[in-house]
Amino acid sequence: MSAAHDDGHGHGPATAELPPGVKLAPGNPEQSWVEKLYLPEVAKGLNNTFKHIFRKKFTIDYDQTDRDNPAKFHRPREGYRGEHYLKKDEEGHVKCVACFMCAAACPAECIHIEAEATPTDWNNRERYPRRFEIDMLRCIYCGMCEEACPVDAIALSTTYNRVADTREAKVYDRDKLMKTGEDLGISLSKHKYRPDGVPGAIPHKKAH
Ligand code: SF4
Ligand code: SF4
Repeated sequence: MSAAHDDGHGHGPATAELPPGVKLAPGNPEQSWVEKLYLPEVAKGLNNTFKHIFRKKFTIDYDQTDRDNPAKFHRPREGYRGEHYLKKDEEGHVKCVACFMCAAACPAECIHIEAEATPTDWNNRERYPRRFEIDMLRCIYCGMCEEACPVDAIALSTTYNRVADTREAKVYDRDKLMKTGEDLGISLSKHKYRPDGVPGAIPHKKAH
């Protein structure tokens, strides 16, 4: 049983005994005059800094000019959840039917959609998103939107390193989200989260 006791002022135990078998680390708590100068510690730090200055640099290429070089371009593991992309149908239109399921499922409430009737020459659905935006700075990359989509119109890519100068630039609109998929060459038929049989999903026959 510990011998700790109250200090009489309601502030809890004033002293505490070490548990059996526990010892204080050896060492002198008093600093020598050399240690009090701090100069040896400063010199040690500078020595460490200079050692790194002359080492070979291994900065990763973030401008994506060398995507095939694994030493320069980091590829996230399979299944990594990065920035989103919107998929297309066979006619090249946005696949989304503006059902709002993704926005309803999003815990961060960062998806904003405005629905509109499809143009008369679109024969495969009634609605599409006139406006579709995702605030990437609010997103927590949980993937719930992708899971909620009944027509496999939205997915998360492995893109992780896009930077922007303003917060507004990180709100991605419909066209930017579609271009992400185009730039990455991602087609619906290759997507592993939505195989055939998902209600409403029609896998693409060719890559876009
Ligand atoms: S990944 Fe999660 S937080 Fe981000 S938009 Fe989708 S549902 Fe919302
Ligand atoms: S769940 Fe899919 S189809 Fe529905 S609004 Fe979101 S992206 Fe569009």
